[in-house]
Amino acid sequence: CGIVGVLGNHEAAPILVEALKRLEYRGYDSAGIATVNNGTLRRRRAVGKLVNLSDLLVHEPLAGKSGIGHTRWATHGAPSVSNAHPHRAGAVAVVHNGIIENYKELRAELLNCGMEFRTETDTETVALMTERYLKEGLTPVDAAFTTLNQLEGAFALAFLFDGEEDLIIAARKGSPLAIGHGDGEMFVGSDAIALAPLTDRITYLEEGDRAVVTRAGAEIRNAQGDLVNRETKTIQIDA
Ligand code: GLU
Repeated sequence: CGIVGVLGNHEAAPILVEALKRLEYRGYDSAGIATVNNGTLRRRRAVGKLVNLSDLLVHEPLAGKSGIGHTRWATHGAPSVSNAHPHRAGAVAVVHNGIIENYKELRAELLNCGMEFRTETDTETVALMTERYLKEGLTPVDAAFTTLNQLEGAFALAFLFDGEEDLIIAARKGSPLAIGHGDGEMFVGSDAIALAPLTDRITYLEEGDRAVVTRAGAEIRNAQGDLVNRETKTIQIDA
């Protein structure tokens, strides 16, 4: 299971698939990516090996220079296309590793508000909560942060938004997440190995951190919402 993200200057889909391949060693049962192109968020997902996702992308390409990707190791809901990530609700797409422990309570609240679930995953809760806050008028950053404040469990998350080609929000609580710094490009990955061909300049998020990532860099806040400085290291991994 793994997470990748790119705000780049080249087509994102092949970069995302390549980065996911570098996370294959962790094991997975399905995979998917989402991109934003000309403001429009779209996704592709496939069960089984990454080659199935690559084949799907040959027939149904996904353009765009901004995107997120995921390999899933199912914990809640069978391995299936509809349970594969990214999960989308309205204007937001979410990839998630780990478990949202309080998803049942959150789900009950959303059902009370009339929101509809289409998957069996804990992750869809995160997408639907964020969509609800977007609809209430919150900015993408505020909507994601308000959602994150309510999540319990161990997880890594990345958010991508319709209409936002220069924004990924990444959060870490119990599952590692790294931010990669390119030249006018930024990356997100479960580990530095995923990003090795793209950059060797890595910032590891610490427990509870949330990063607002744009092509200009990453603004990192801790769980209390305070801006924090995390060291960017030059690491050596064979690409
Ligand atoms: N709990 C999520 C699911 O079952 C994420 C699993 C993972 O870490 O890949 O979809």
